[in-house]
Amino acid sequence: MSDFAGLRALVTGGASGIGRATAGLLAARGAHVAVLDLDPSAVRQPLLALRADVTDDASVRTAVQEAAGALGGLDILVNNAGIGAQGTVEDNDDAEWRHVFDVNVLGMVRTARAALPYLRRSDHAAIVNTCSVAATAGLPQRALYSATKGAVYSLTLAMAADHVREGIRVNCVNPGTADTPWIGRLLDAAPDPAAERAALEARQPTGRLVSAAEVAGAIAYLAGPLSGATTGTALAVDGGMQGL
Ligand code: NAD
Repeated sequence: MSDFAGLRALVTGGASGIGRATAGLLAARGAHVAVLDLDPSAVRQPLLALRADVTDDASVRTAVQEAAGALGGLDILVNNAGIGAQGTVEDNDDAEWRHVFDVNVLGMVRTARAALPYLRRSDHAAIVNTCSVAATAGLPQRALYSATKGAVYSLTLAMAADHVREGIRVNCVNPGTADTPWIGRLLDAAPDPAAERAALEARQPTGRLVSAAEVAGAIAYLAGPLSGATTGTALAVDGGMQGL
C-alpha cells in the first residue's frame, strides 16, 4: 500500500514500542519518516533518526527544524513520546508530578508548537497524539499517569478546534495495555514476570494484550487520507477495556 506516498511524518518516541511500529508502518506505506527520540540509536535507514528530549524546548525546535529540512516539510506529527508512573496521589511527590507532566503533556505541546508552522504549509496536515484509556477509565494506582493522559485528551480536543480552519486535523488514540518494551520492563520488575503477564492478559476482555502494530494501524488511519473528515476524536485500541 502506498497511500502515504509523498507525505512527510515526524514520530516522537519512535525508537521503541508504539512509536517504532508507527514509524515503520508509515514508511512501509510510502511516507518519508523522521524519528525524534531520547535514544534513537536503534533507528535504521530509511528512517531519519533525531536525538532530542521533549522536555527541552530548544532540542525539540532543533529536531523539528532538522526533520522538516531533511524531508522538505512536514505533513504529519505523531506526538507519542511518553513515560509511565504508578501509584495513588500519596505515592508521587511534586517533583515526580512535574516531571511526568513535563514529558507527557508539555512534551506534546512543545513538539506541536515547533511543528505547526510547517504543518500549515501542508495540503494534508494531521497530528495524532498517543493518549491512553487511562484518560477516561479511572484506573487504580495510576493517578499521575491518568492525569497526564486526561490532559492529552483535552489538549487534543482544544487543538482540533483551534486548527481545523487551517486545514490541520488533530486526533488521539487511546491504547489499552499494549505489548511494548515499556510493559516488558514493568513485567520484568515483578517477582514472577510470567505469572504477572498471565494476570494482566486475564484482565483484558480479549484475553490478550494489544499489539504495538494494532495501535500503529489506528494512528496511521488518523494520520492518513482516509480520515480526512475526522478531527477532535479519540480512537480506542483497548481490546474492549473501556466498554466494560
Ligand atoms: P516505550 O517505552 O516502548 O517507548 C517510548 C519511547 O519514548 C522510547 O523510545 C523513549 O526513549 C521515548 N521517550 C521517553 N521520554 C522521552 C523524552 N523525554 N524525549 C524524547 N523521547 C522520549 O513506550 P510505549 O509503550 O511504546 O509508549 C508510547 C506511548 O504510548 C506513550 O505516550 C504511552 O503513554 C502510550 N501508551 C502506552 C500504553 C502501553 O500499554 N504500552 C498504553 C497506553 C498508552
